[in-house]
Amino acid sequence: MEKKPFVTLEQLEEIVKDYPTPFHLYDEAGIRENARKVKEAFAWNPGFKEYFAVKATPNPRILEILKEYGCGTDCSSATELMMSDAAGFSGQEIMFSSNDTPAEEFQMADEMGAIINLDDFTHIEYLEKAIGHIPETICCRYNPGGVFEISNGIMDNPGDSKYGMTESQLMEAFRILREKGAKRFGIHAFLVSNTVTNDYYPMLASELFALAVRVKQETGIEVDFINLSGGVGIPYRPEEKPNDIGVIGEGVRREFERILVPAGLGDVSIYTEMGRFMLGPYGCLVTRAIHEKHIYKEYIGVDACAVNLMRPAMYGAYHHITVMGKENAPCDHKYDVVGSLCENNDKFAIDRMLPKIDRGDLLVIHDTGAHGFSMGYNYNGKLRSAELLLKEDGSVQMIRRAETPRDYFATLDVCEEMKKYL
Ligand SMILES: *Cc1c(COP(=O)(O)O)cnc(C)c1O
Repeated sequence: MEKKPFVTLEQLEEIVKDYPTPFHLYDEAGIRENARKVKEAFAWNPGFKEYFAVKATPNPRILEILKEYGCGTDCSSATELMMSDAAGFSGQEIMFSSNDTPAEEFQMADEMGAIINLDDFTHIEYLEKAIGHIPETICCRYNPGGVFEISNGIMDNPGDSKYGMTESQLMEAFRILREKGAKRFGIHAFLVSNTVTNDYYPMLASELFALAVRVKQETGIEVDFINLSGGVGIPYRPEEKPNDIGVIGEGVRREFERILVPAGLGDVSIYTEMGRFMLGPYGCLVTRAIHEKHIYKEYIGVDACAVNLMRPAMYGAYHHITVMGKENAPCDHKYDVVGSLCENNDKFAIDRMLPKIDRGDLLVIHDTGAHGFSMGYNYNGKLRSAELLLKEDGSVQMIRRAETPRDYFATLDVCEEMKKYL
């Protein structure tokens, strides 16, 4: 499918008058339409809730939009809990799906009344020591081990991942947690990331639903909720076919009716913790070409770098690039599109066929709405960019300002000489 930016060159030319490049831009209309579709896709399940994975796009203005569609938040750190609180989420609207969790974070999650998702069997004792009791509602994260396969092959290797408990640990955990006062139980698993197939959630659901039936048989515990977590992907590449959340929701329903209903578990609530699917396509990184370089290869230097978007450098991830105003020009130039870090992996694209790029051209790097800005860092003393929200009425709201040197120096014990920069 052709990938088109959600913003026009004319709009961008207006925006850059007020906000210098680079910046992340989010599409309010797209976020809302998608959130509505997610809600509809699971409307068959009365207890359904999407707990948006805050780590994907940690910005209260974004969280507030999602809240209007019934979303909660999924957190895994103290600051994500604080942000959820500040954005108006409370109690069981918050899922705390962390791992290797410090005691203070369990304490904060418990004080907020969040649903705690235990990543490991040993965390029962650790949690009890940290907060002095076992919460009435508790979730356990499951790891089936082995490989996770769907019809078109192996998707990932849970046996190699650090998350979750084995089945026998989970059974034993539920028995112990019940003895210690837990009353409402949930099961959670995250087995594969960025799946671009409508089969992932239904396959995962059938595995977790069957597990819930075994839990009932072996322990007598009827789980209250099953959390399918994240992993629903987006088509970063033009040739990929986007997931259809309606089809995914129906697929989960089919397994629900096949496995849970006959087992007397038809009241189970379905939870999700999607990040990428909720926000990924509805954000882009806007950057300007500032240099061209002709050596053994052709390079275009832009004013963004890997600190603004780490995925290409970290995973070799593909992000589509549109050269604004040249959408219909032939892609007859092969470029490496690079940032300014002193790291040779700071490349947004390698050997990418693009229209001829001139200095000053605006480039839109697609699909940065999730795990984009949030993975940012400050290497080479580079500062994080602003985040802007393109509102439904076409106006622009700055929802995070760009960092200044003062932010970068804020944690230092500064010397007199540096004070002039603060
Ligand atoms: C990262 C993460 C998510 C979100 O994953 P996406 O791939 O963005 O959907 C959800 N739950 C947990 C526990 C995570 O670590």
